[in-house]
Amino acid sequence: MKKKRISIFGATGSVGQNTLDLIGRDRQSYEIVVLSGGSNIDLLIKAALEFEPQVVVAATNDQLDELKNALSKTQVEVGIGRAALLESASRKCDLAFSAIVGAAGLEPGLIALENGADLALANKESMVAAGSLVKQKAIESKCNLIPVDSEHSAIFQALQGENVNAIERVILTASGGAFRDWPLDKIAQATPEQASTHPNWNMGQRITIDSASMFNKALEIIEAKELFSLSSEQIEVLVHPQSYVHAIVGFCDGGMMAHLGPPDMRHAIGYALNYPNRKTLQLENLDFAKIGSLTFMAPDKERFPAIGLAYEVMSLGGISGAVFNAAKETTLDGFLSKQIGFLEMCPIVEKTIVKLCHVENCHKLEANLINILDIDKMARNIAAELIRMQRS
Ligand code: NDP
Ligand code: MG
Repeated sequence: MKKKRISIFGATGSVGQNTLDLIGRDRQSYEIVVLSGGSNIDLLIKAALEFEPQVVVAATNDQLDELKNALSKTQVEVGIGRAALLESASRKCDLAFSAIVGAAGLEPGLIALENGADLALANKESMVAAGSLVKQKAIESKCNLIPVDSEHSAIFQALQGENVNAIERVILTASGGAFRDWPLDKIAQATPEQASTHPNWNMGQRITIDSASMFNKALEIIEAKELFSLSSEQIEVLVHPQSYVHAIVGFCDGGMMAHLGPPDMRHAIGYALNYPNRKTLQLENLDFAKIGSLTFMAPDKERFPAIGLAYEVMSLGGISGAVFNAAKETTLDGFLSKQIGFLEMCPIVEKTIVKLCHVENCHKLEANLINILDIDKMARNIAAELIRMQRS
């Protein structure tokens, strides 16, 4: 059987490592083309020695010698920096995992699509910042966009064999994150350490903090709108503390399809890895008799205002998602470096949207890559300035 050629952008991250875990259990089915990492050079070397990709790419120059030395006895090519990352994305593969965190993941995904690879999309920021562009590339190249985010994988799976025009609504579930039950005055004092623990999922630090602020759900609302061409009115959010139901699709005849599974990303990753087939993954199964009951509640939009911002961004349309995401990434950096408090993130993101979209109308620019990267930069600068003003 022909091996499936896989590239993984963000191989040293949480999604990347889970993907390699699944590939490692079924080595004969896959061949690795690219493994890219950021600064975690030890993990990148370990993965490169184990999987012997065609090329391995790290982020910064000071890693070059270490990487070259470690791989000197192998056939693995070594690349460093952004240009090498983008070049590696053009290498022929069947399926590229977009698992870099942040808007930095957009371009490798677009290039992979342009070069004929199906895209396993964990990087939700791509759809938020540039949904129409990503979809356009996929259509032009006749490639599949396969969601990896658990909620979107759930919707994608529930829609197999269905007519998307029959969708009435889509419900994204949310665990509620680390501060689900915290009062506002306590959330205001939250530290990065407290925000970096998730009750159910084991993920990278940035998405974990975004889960605590519900910015993650806000991004996912926009991601769902873009991926499945929904209207904002069709998308709802329900807090479901157990994280067993990942999403529910309601159809026009009143029938609803829910997708369930343990909170383990390897289910969604395995589905994308083997799409359109399914393979035995040998992961934990849910025991409903033990679980007993599932609970759901409406999200508290006062304590978690990021959800409201997602609807604001969807009504603005255009490339406002790029502003939203870039401002969100910048305020997260501000919170991580303790320049601003947890509850100061949302107002700064909102002010950035007001300035660039409501006042300057930049979101109405054509949704091409140059404009998206430009507006991303502008939003980062404005949000960074607002953070500075907040401190002074
Ligand atoms: P991690 O922070 O764990 O990993 C991010 C990866 O991207 C690492 O390999 C990191 O390298 C690399 N990276 C970071 N910045 C850059 C950059 N500027 N250039 C090149 N590479 C870079 O993130 P996650 O795995 O948690 O998330 C990845 C994506 O998947 C995100 O978009 C997230 O929202 C999405 N996602 C994640 C889920 C999860 O379970 N983790 C669930 C659903 C979606 P290094 O670590 O070596 O510095
Ligand atoms: Mg998710």
